[in-house]
Amino acid sequence: MLRRAGYLCEECRRYGRVGRDGLPVRATTAHHVKHRDEYPELQYVVSNGRALCEACHNKAHPEKGKRGKYWY
Ligand SMILES: [Zn+2]
Ligand SMILES: [Zn+2]
Repeated sequence: MLRRAGYLCEECRRYGRVGRDGLPVRATTAHHVKHRDEYPELQYVVSNGRALCEACHNKAHPEKGKRGKYWY
């Protein structure tokens, strides 16, 4: 899943954001656009997955707040 974006955060790349080291922000999480609990058949569909860094992934789950890392 993360291979598709070359391990870079898709959101940060889209907005041209870089990390503190001046390098592109690395993706740490494979986010499922449609959650696998509701759409189990989409779990391995590449177009349903996005490579995100932790900050962007947390934003993708505003309803989960600090527990976002347990919610993919
Ligand atoms: Zn990001
Ligand atoms: Zn997610």
